[in-house]
Amino acid sequence: MNVYVHFPFCRSKCTYCALHSRAGSTGQARTEYVKHLTEELAALDIAPHSIETVYFGGGSPALCDLRPMTEALRRLTAPSCEFTVELHPLDVSDDTLFMLEDGGVNRISMGVQSLDDATLRHMRRGYTALEAERAFAKIRRRFENAGIDLIVGYPGDSSGTAELARLGSWGLAHCSVYSLILESGSILAKQAQNLSFPTDDETLDKIRDVAALLRSIGLERYEISNYARPGRECAHNMAVWRGEDYIGLGEGAHGRRGLQRTESGNIETVTPEQDETERRIFRLRTIEGVDASNRPDWIHALDGFAAQGLVTKHGGVYRLTERGTEVCDSILLALV
Ligand code: SF4
Repeated sequence: MNVYVHFPFCRSKCTYCALHSRAGSTGQARTEYVKHLTEELAALDIAPHSIETVYFGGGSPALCDLRPMTEALRRLTAPSCEFTVELHPLDVSDDTLFMLEDGGVNRISMGVQSLDDATLRHMRRGYTALEAERAFAKIRRRFENAGIDLIVGYPGDSSGTAELARLGSWGLAHCSVYSLILESGSILAKQAQNLSFPTDDETLDKIRDVAALLRSIGLERYEISNYARPGRECAHNMAVWRGEDYIGLGEGAHGRRGLQRTESGNIETVTPEQDETERRIFRLRTIEGVDASNRPDWIHALDGFAAQGLVTKHGGVYRLTERGTEVCDSILLALV
């Protein structure tokens, strides 16, 4: 059993974001939201100590008093449960970290996004690179299992080798590196005409630089966009990518149970074929790769990609090569 809980509250709207989020919410709205989530969780009738991973994502979950939820989860989580909370650097305080630790949280993911102050300002993130570094140091004093998110390819982002090298002293257990997607409906999409975006090759070079830096400090790529110290891969995300079921709670949260897919409480049923394809596609994104032995159509396509050096084949299991991770979307498209 894996549980994802979405908290859609944000301090303000980041320019690149088109996710469902509520900026400028009241304390009462947040309290009611958590109360509603807690009731939803209770109604699910989950067996005690059966939840193996919990992920509180957002938005900025720590804008809410999370105690009713962590209290409700206490008797439902397994002793070895990985319990992650995403934090915005401005939400990092001793009180918040104590609340999370006391509530059973044992993994923190902090959205840093850039190490260039001008870019952080343009993104409307509200902190400097130094403030993010200090916030992460505070997290690390309580949580050994902590990591950050970075965005590569933001227009004008001048964070280079020197800035990246500073990450070496942060004590990262995990790092997610996403290339910028210009989402329609985002503030950035409206500004795009007046901005100079890096080319795909420049973005790729930057991703390679970040990957090399992360590798030099002991973080290996285990999924297209994710790097971790051995043993610190995100168990929740790995469960989802391996094709396990997960419950999604909250506005905009997705869930998967058997053939059912849920989003914000709406249920859609997929065919067994769609279900199998979806679960396998996710696996190919990971270092574990996908077993294609009973899918002749996939074997044909993947053998073609193997000949181009984009995947390797071990028995019936295909895994992306470094180059394959860079052009993964084309490979996935050919399989669906
Ligand atoms: S990126 Fe995160 S914090 Fe920023 S607006 Fe989107 S959901 Fe909110």
